[in-house]
Amino acid sequence: MKIAVLPGDGIGPEVTRSAIRILAEVGEMAGIQVDLTEHLIGGTAIRETGSPFPDETASACVASDAVLLGAVGDPAFDNSKPEERPEKGLLRLRKALGGFANLRPSRAYESLIGSSPLREDVFRGTDLLIVRELLGGLYFGEPRGTSDREAFNTMRYSTAEVERVACVAFEAARVRRGKVTSVDKANVLETSQLWRRTVDKVAKGYPDIKLEHMFVDACAMHLVTNPKGFDVILTENLFGDILSDEAAVLTGSLGMLASATIGGNIDLYEPVHGSAPDIAGKNIANPLGAIASVAMLFRYSAKNESCAKAIDDAIDRALSEGYRTVDIAKDGCRVVSTDEMTDIIARYAVENAGASRAYHAV
Ligand code: NAD
Repeated sequence: MKIAVLPGDGIGPEVTRSAIRILAEVGEMAGIQVDLTEHLIGGTAIRETGSPFPDETASACVASDAVLLGAVGDPAFDNSKPEERPEKGLLRLRKALGGFANLRPSRAYESLIGSSPLREDVFRGTDLLIVRELLGGLYFGEPRGTSDREAFNTMRYSTAEVERVACVAFEAARVRRGKVTSVDKANVLETSQLWRRTVDKVAKGYPDIKLEHMFVDACAMHLVTNPKGFDVILTENLFGDILSDEAAVLTGSLGMLASATIGGNIDLYEPVHGSAPDIAGKNIANPLGAIASVAMLFRYSAKNESCAKAIDDAIDRALSEGYRTVDIAKDGCRVVSTDEMTDIIARYAVENAGASRAYHAV
């Protein structure tokens, strides 16, 4: 696999160093040849080239099988024009790759349950994946306009746009617990009625997957009253934006969360957090979101579930043995640095991948 690695700014390079170590070591153990090249993005790229997304980075990304991003953002550019800010690099990267499905898993790590704002008995056992349509709906619909007295946007979806993201959700459910909850507002919106009809049609090709429909207001409520009732949540752009943040906060820590944007020419994997300038360079950042993004890369781009699971299980084991970076530390745990956490995950993940390889060889 050819992977373009974009470490970016702040803690981006620190957590990316952890991620690529896991990627290379687990890949090697599984017999997957991984070819990694590093490129500039964000504030680091502006300093060296004058652009937040240099042409060299763009060419390398579109010539790769997947892109692994750290984080982008640097307070030194806070007063720059929007076109000259580091974050512009991120928007240009996403556009160049063209992914239409954003995947964000949220799960309750048994050992971190106390960090969730939800009651333990409600949150325990939660393991859900939000599949959000990323290129359509209200954010992109035309016409749009504004005057002094009114403003409007257009929510528009075509069946083709719904079909392609629905397929991603059903495929994801196949390697999970086999259930898709499609979220809409079909009691009010025509776009949602088309969404529901189209999802029903796609579901006919996945008779092994259970499909349920849910209104977005009910979904927002169920996410905090019964999150373990969900497996894969499929939804459109605006609803997904809101619900994925709601689901993210349930886990209690930004540093733990991974994401994937897939379906375009090239898939993009990145932790959910930003460049965290307040802790950059101190070797204390939590690398688990970046490492879990590598698990997603194995799962969706390499189609290698056993490598993905080797990494996810390694994270579970490290946490349950009490290893914690500062952001998730609590009484009685063993506080470790970014590098120490990476050492531990690398050891466990390689062990898991080796065991899985030996099992399959038998
Ligand atoms: P942030 O996610 O960088 O940080 C929010 C808080 O969470 C900070 O206190 C930080 O220390 C902590 N945190 C974040 N990740 C952590 C980790 N892995 N381990 C431990 N603690 C962690 O959000 P912000 O402070 O609002 O933004 C900082 C910069 O990042 C801004 O320039 C913003 O534009 C950018 N940003 C980039 C992305 C991205 O690259 N995808 C996403 C969000 C924000």
